[in-house]
Amino acid sequence: MPPTISESLERARLAALPWLRRLLVANLPFALILAAALILPDFVMDAASGARRAVYTPDIVLYFLLFGVCVSFVAAPRLIAGLLIVLGAFEILHFCYMAYFGGVIDANLILHGLVEMEDVALGAAGVLSYVYYAPLVVILPYAAAWLLLRPLLPSRAVIPRWSLALLLAATAVPVQIVRDGSAIRYYPVDTLPSAANAYLTFSTLFFDRLPGLVIADAAKHAADPHPPRIVRNTPPAKATIVIVMNESLTSDHMSLFGYGRDTTPRLAALRGDPAFVYRRGISAGVGTRSTFHSFWNEVHDPRDEEAFVEQRSNLFRLARESGFRTIFLSAQRANLMRGNGLQYVDVLHTLESEESRYERLHDEMFLELLREIPLEDRNLIVVQFRSAHSPYADNYTPRIELATFPTQGLDYRRFQQNSYDNAVRYNDLVMSELIDYFRKTVAGPLYVFLTSDHGQLLGEGKHQRIGHGMLLPEVAHVPIMLYSQNGDPAIAAALRQMKDPTHYELTGLIDRAMGIEVRDPDADSGVFYINGYAYNARAGYITVKKSERHTRFTRHPAG
Ligand SMILES: [Zn+2]
Repeated sequence: MPPTISESLERARLAALPWLRRLLVANLPFALILAAALILPDFVMDAASGARRAVYTPDIVLYFLLFGVCVSFVAAPRLIAGLLIVLGAFEILHFCYMAYFGGVIDANLILHGLVEMEDVALGAAGVLSYVYYAPLVVILPYAAAWLLLRPLLPSRAVIPRWSLALLLAATAVPVQIVRDGSAIRYYPVDTLPSAANAYLTFSTLFFDRLPGLVIADAAKHAADPHPPRIVRNTPPAKATIVIVMNESLTSDHMSLFGYGRDTTPRLAALRGDPAFVYRRGISAGVGTRSTFHSFWNEVHDPRDEEAFVEQRSNLFRLARESGFRTIFLSAQRANLMRGNGLQYVDVLHTLESEESRYERLHDEMFLELLREIPLEDRNLIVVQFRSAHSPYADNYTPRIELATFPTQGLDYRRFQQNSYDNAVRYNDLVMSELIDYFRKTVAGPLYVFLTSDHGQLLGEGKHQRIGHGMLLPEVAHVPIMLYSQNGDPAIAAALRQMKDPTHYELTGLIDRAMGIEVRDPDADSGVFYINGYAYNARAGYITVKKSERHTRFTRHPAG
């Protein structure tokens, strides 16, 4: 006689009960222990080094727990041990790098280290007494976890062939890297947990950088026949260099540059001040990431992939090598800085770590944050705003009194224009407050450079478009300004004389303030570039050809 439905259910319940019990008494503790082992090194490292890198929010902790639960279903203990060994090996490498240099390690740095193994060994031997703790930060929690996990192994609920499913899931990023033909979107992010960065970095190493070495793909990694040369002059004994990087701020909507509405009254009041120089400039790209990639790495031609990989002229690297303390403060997320040298930054605060401060103060949070950071003789401080980013109306809520343009009952275009202009008024306030702050607190030479990642279209002119990212010269309309005090007057004079200064020329001025010159023979030709929205000109680019009389733009769409 076949069993009735209720009998079958009863049988299933009995069969499931031990499974559920296994889940509770073994898999769940397993997941907790594994998650703790993966998370702990970041906290110990932060405490040991005083740096603040990885940011753990409740959802990230939950991901680690889920990961632990997933691994707990793997049947073979040897596979679990293997995972801990592989992950642990990377973490040891990573934490040693952090202890030595500060900042996360990426695939290029690993390759570089492999090439110069002897140097690395000598360098490490010399500072062993300072960095000896780095491997322990990983080994101790991992070993403790293994001791605690072992007795749980036999009583777990396991799923047959589960390890295969996990392996398949682990191919997600490698598959994307191969499909994109580029790994830049998967470079590590300083604020991510180190275990997540381990996955990204090893995916990049094995599926992009190493194959790139084996398969000489001339088109992919076009070697620059005239690589830039770094000339180091004597760095100034004292200097504070500030780079204010605005977001989506177009010079076309700033009254400082003649826009009809009074959007920048405070900056306009500085017009007569000999310490202040302001020019209409041209950004290095039409999107945040594509501009940043060129700007922070000081790369002249966005197609020059090798230059991005080498990072010889990375601004933070140059600054650090010249004895500057590097400080990066951002009201946006750190992943915008992928591949841009955050590993050379000494003090890092991004939206991930400043969420509540940003909620309270928006871009004015920098004034509070800066008071907490002691300055040294030589400082390079980057302040990345959010103010003019869309939705514009969200940015100026703490200073609603500045919003003089109505935003109610308007058509779409008018609403966008008015809320944008209100955001620029807020931007004007924060920029002037920052200039004022530095002017009053910095005694030695001071340079405050101000620009924007790209401009913004607001449904006017011949294109009638709104936003950025389009391959149009107008999207690259940004302010380039400098407020200097007790500095080298030649730097302000050089900017004053520049016609249509580009971001590349701006970084040249910043280098000069640090006592450095990046000499790229290709840049002497008077040709500059505006990158499309994608890395390495994969979404096209615009050439900017400058001559005595005019500046000519030529679009080169992709494909
Ligand atoms: Zn942007």
